[in-house]
This record gives sequence, structure tokens and C-alpha cells, in this order.
Amino acid sequence: MHLLSIYIEYYFNFTTLHLLHMKYSHCVWFIVVSILVSSCASTKKPSQKHAGSIHSYDLSEEGVIKRLSKSIRHETVSLEDTSEINYKAYEDFIDFLEVEYPSIHDNIERERIGQYSLLYKWEGSNSGLKPAMMIGHYDVVPVKYGDDTLWQYPPFSGEVEDGFVWGRGALDDKSGVMSTMEALEYLTEQGFQPERTFYIALHHDEEVGGVRGAQQIAEHLKEQDIELAYLVDEGLPIAEEILENVEVPLAMIGVASKGSINIELRYTQDGGHSSMPTRSSVIGTLSRAVNRIERKPMKASYRGLIVDTFEPLIPYMTYTQRLAFNNTWLFRGIIKSKLSKNPATNAALRTTAAKTIFEAGFKENVLPVEGRVIINFRIHPNDNVEDVVAYVRDRINNDNIEVRVLDRARNPSPVSSTGAAPYQMLKKTIEESFSQVLVSPSLFIAASDARHFHDLTSNIYRFRPIRARHEDRSRVHGIDERISVDNYMEMIEFQIRLIKNGASEL
Ligand SMILES: [Zn+2]
Repeated sequence: MHLLSIYIEYYFNFTTLHLLHMKYSHCVWFIVVSILVSSCASTKKPSQKHAGSIHSYDLSEEGVIKRLSKSIRHETVSLEDTSEINYKAYEDFIDFLEVEYPSIHDNIERERIGQYSLLYKWEGSNSGLKPAMMIGHYDVVPVKYGDDTLWQYPPFSGEVEDGFVWGRGALDDKSGVMSTMEALEYLTEQGFQPERTFYIALHHDEEVGGVRGAQQIAEHLKEQDIELAYLVDEGLPIAEEILENVEVPLAMIGVASKGSINIELRYTQDGGHSSMPTRSSVIGTLSRAVNRIERKPMKASYRGLIVDTFEPLIPYMTYTQRLAFNNTWLFRGIIKSKLSKNPATNAALRTTAAKTIFEAGFKENVLPVEGRVIINFRIHPNDNVEDVVAYVRDRINNDNIEVRVLDRARNPSPVSSTGAAPYQMLKKTIEESFSQVLVSPSLFIAASDARHFHDLTSNIYRFRPIRARHEDRSRVHGIDERISVDNYMEMIEFQIRLIKNGASEL
């Protein structure tokens, strides 16, 4: 679930802080502002330029665009009900890769795992180095019934028009898979030999949890006692227009991802006829419980990772934004409260609770005997599954409501180090590939297949060099998904550099 859209939303609507509405007294204000004005005056706002790309490799644009377009035409749609899946499209896609990338298939060994997921092993010359891994997924989400007519070009046409390649998967994640393959084909053709072994996994069921693909591949590697130096997966983009008045692009490397848990609240009581209602009701009791959770969400924090995310942007902010972000010791509360007001930034600060299902009653003149609510929590790295359950029990404060954890509860991922050599290599590769781009570590508020690989390495990074503007936020899993031809060419160059930079000792 590559929720690029959420992340773009996440960083946008942060408008100028209304500092003058603060609750501090005028006297304190005068002193504080006097100090801060002088401390900020030295931070001159640098000019804001759009990121350019740096071309180093001789790639045939016509060829690579044609292949991306063809890849979209394979309707490799994932569905929860596997009996409904058209696996013929998956087989055809695998055949297509073999035909289009002969050099890869001559030089790199390949296994099929979980039937349709592919694991390539590019043997390095130095067995003393830990292998690296690059993963992506070639399955895509379906196009909602009836939505296909709303697309500018049919969703599985792979149309190349107006400087874009259009279609389902153009962003998530066929461009990721295909740019990786282009890079491998290019490098193997050139006779490039890595010192480090590379594993490249192309998964087939990421959009429905990755249990048959990524999970089995991770198990397969674990059985061989393989320890990875690092793993790079899809994830966060290069966000442009991150804050209002801040146009400098920010490449966000996802160093952690949120956990998830579904909690069911169930309440039962005697029923009866609606002509003689009891004082308390199933609906009223459950509504009160939900209301108590909404009134006091789990704790927000503007510390650690989120501070690091905004840090490189500070010089590019407006004066009042700079004032606040340069002085979090004083303005942390205000920053937190401002960010909490926007659902997307709020998600980066705390564990969120989405009330997704509420069921009670079946007939207008019968009192319901039972009701249930399901709340989907997305768990911030500051919390864990137990914290969420304890919070729920504490907030609803009613022993008669049954609190049940549903299947597939998942703690947040560990936070990968930004000091580690692989992170620094990735950062350097981004800087070498895109001029004028800032890089920062960020929290990925969705989930991807990387979650299956935590036992294999502590260095997991979620990033694709996709340029994402505000208007693109609804295209992922939505209508008119597309990637620009220029951006796709940049992605391939980036993947080539990423392999070369990671191919020897870091
Ligand atoms: Zn994805």
C-alpha cells in the first residue's frame, strides 16, 4: 500500500504559524521576540530552485518508455479473493520480463517463489560483503468498477501522451519495478560486476499483504542465514511544494513505518420493543465509548524523527515558520497543535484512531441486543500494540464493553539508523542524481512489503525518486495515475547509481 498520496497531503497544508495568537503574556513576548529576532536574522532564506536532474548514462528513451508502457498493459491486479485473480496476466508479465531483459536473464540467476514472485540473485565477487536487497511489487490495485470511464486514458492502456506514461501502476509500483530492471539490464550489458551480492525481489501480492510473495522470500533467505547490509523498498517520494511558500523539493527516506491494529468494541444488553426503551442502550453506550476516544486521542510528540524531517527545510521557510522551528524549546506546543489540526500531519505525530465500522440494530421498532464498533489504529513508533489496548480500556472505562484485538495486529517497524553507512550512501545517491534537492529521514505512515524483512537487516529504507506535487496525491490507487517521461528517466539513472554506489564496501 504505497500511500504516496497520504504523504503528499501530510506535508502540504502547513500554513504560517499564527504566533500572535499565543497565550503568553505581552511581557514575556517582548523579551522572547527580542532574543529570537536576533537569532533568526542570521538565517537568510536561500533562493528556491526546482530540482534538476543529472544525466550520466546513455539510455534510449524510446526503448525504456515503450517497455514501461507495455508493463502497464499487463493487468496484474491483486484481489483479496485469490480465486478471482487472473494469474494468466502474472505469467504473461513474467514472460514479458524474460523477453525484454535478455542480459539480466543471461547473467543473473532467478527463482520463482510463492509461484509468481521473482527473486534474482546477482552474485558479487566479494563474499566477505553482506548482500544488499532491492524490492518492489508488480501487482496493482484494481480500478474501481465504473471509474475507468473517468480516466483521461484507459487505465491499462499504458498510453504515452502529454509527456506522461498513463495507467494503473505508473506510480505504484510498476515504475519502481521496471526502473530497477532497466538499471540491471544496462549494468549487465555494460559488463558491470558488483563486489557485493544483490538480491532483487519483485513481489506479486503486496497490495493484499505480501503473505505469499515477500513473506515467503524473507523466510527463504532466513533459512539460508542470510544477513543483509541494507534493503531499499518503495515508499516516500520527492515531495515538491512541501509547505506553503516552500518550494524546495524534499526527498523523504522512510526510515520507519507505522504499525496497525484493529480493535473491536462489543456491547450486549437485553433487547425489547421500542415502545418501552431502557434508559441506556447499545447504541448510546458504544457512542459514548467512541466519543471518549475522539475527545482525547493518543499523545502527540514533536520530537525525534519528525523534527529531523523538517530540519533541512528550516532555511527555506517563511520568517514566522523559521522562528518557531528554530526554537522548538519554546514553540513545540504550538507546532504540535498546528500540525495536529491537519489529518495528514497529525498522522505523523501520533497513533491515530479511525472508526471504520459501526453496527447495531436491524429493525426500527426493536431495541438492539448487540452492537460493535471497529477502530483501526495506526501505531506511531512511540507506541506499541499493548499501549493502544491499554489506552482503549482506560478511555472507555467500562468493563461491560468487550475489547477485542482482531487479526493481523502489527507493531511499528524499528527505526533504521540515519548514521548507518547505507543511509548515507542512499542520501549521497539522491544528491548526485538530483541537484537542489534536500534529503531527510521520515516516517512512512502506510505499510509496504519491507515489513517482512525486519529479521534480515536493521537498515531498511523506503524511497522512490518520484516527484510528487500536491495535485498528484489522489492519483496513487486513484484516477489518472501517471508518471512523467522525464521523471521515469531520472528514476532509472538513480537506480543505476544506487547499485553502483552500493556495490562495494561502504
Ligand atoms: Zn506499492
